[in-house]
Amino acid sequence: MLFLVMAEKKEVSTGSAPTHPEAVKGEDGRWHASDGRPLPVSASDLERYTYCPLSWHLAATGTSGKSEAIEEGKRQHQAIHESIMDLKGHQFQTQKNLLIWQWWFSIIVILLVDTVAFRYIDDIDLNVLEFSRFLAVGALSFLLVGVMALLVPWRVTIGLNRPFLPKKEGHVDHIEPVFEPHDFMGGWFQAGLLETFMFISAIVLALHSSALLFAEDREQASFVLAFTTVGWTLLASVVLRRALKNNASAESLAQENNLNVDDEISYSDDEEKSRLLVDDETGLRGRPDQIVIIDSEFIPVEQKTGKVPKRPHDSHRLQALAYARLVEKTTGRSPPYALLRYGQDNLHQLIWDAEAEEELFAKVREVQHVMAEGGAVRNHERPGKCQHCSRRHACGSSLV
Ligand code: SF4
Repeated sequence: MLFLVMAEKKEVSTGSAPTHPEAVKGEDGRWHASDGRPLPVSASDLERYTYCPLSWHLAATGTSGKSEAIEEGKRQHQAIHESIMDLKGHQFQTQKNLLIWQWWFSIIVILLVDTVAFRYIDDIDLNVLEFSRFLAVGALSFLLVGVMALLVPWRVTIGLNRPFLPKKEGHVDHIEPVFEPHDFMGGWFQAGLLETFMFISAIVLALHSSALLFAEDREQASFVLAFTTVGWTLLASVVLRRALKNNASAESLAQENNLNVDDEISYSDDEEKSRLLVDDETGLRGRPDQIVIIDSEFIPVEQKTGKVPKRPHDSHRLQALAYARLVEKTTGRSPPYALLRYGQDNLHQLIWDAEAEEELFAKVREVQHVMAEGGAVRNHERPGKCQHCSRRHACGSSLV
């Protein structure tokens, strides 16, 4: 790789041994593996390293954390993930039921108009046969347009099926496997709205055309229609009630998670199925706990369980900023901030700007430097930190 310079003679400082002694320093100030890629630094590495470089080194060399708090944290994370997915489900059900209700409400209006029309059509000066033919031609036209819309790839032609984010050099242009497109509802809700409208219109007009032609007793027909309208109204009210119930559940779950009921959940980490976000430029990687869409922006959320601090710990702050960078690289859009949440009610907005980026990059380089050259040492004199350290059992520098 052009940007790599010759490996410098390794000067192992006091402290830990290097984990990547083969790494070489590039012109960009980062350390690169033999394949030319920057040494991988996860958001969790940053968190551990900032807490105490020795804790990071112990984790990097295979020492797992041991503490009840870790197990409790995992359990709480899972509970938060389930609550977020529940919220997403209720939001979807609310939208789906409201959409069905809107369609059904249109049918009620049509039935009402029909009831009145059938009752009085013979009283007005109208050629019923001509009008029936007119409706039949309308039905046929809607049917043909609907079939054409299905057969001709018009969405591609007018650019409707383009990726939902602007394509920029170096950015992925389609990230559906990780995030769903904004307002995505799936199935015919999204793709076939126009076609569905055409076919339903064709059916409605065809039914009216034949009804006008064959309904001999129009007064009786208007009675049947009135009855159907009442039945349909009852069914529509059931759907509306379902939508309102789902909305109430979504509101309560959104409140529980410090979100607005309209905020869209784009992603929630379940640790098994979620894809790792990678920044090839810096070597950063990680999976945010959630990504929500607020004011049309992808906002990463980092959830912390356990004791709520007076102000965010630097280690947590840097981890959340790392997710802001990963979201930026993955989507090509800069999130204005990342969210750091302690427990249920303590929420911090961490601004993602040039200063934050500078701080993050400096820390990534620092971790990479220690990976390549070694030298991780305890960075504090606080017994309390060691007391709460989950790798204390394997640490020779513990203060307690
Ligand atoms: S026990 Fe103390 S010195 Fe050792 S890794 Fe943990 S925080 Fe660092």
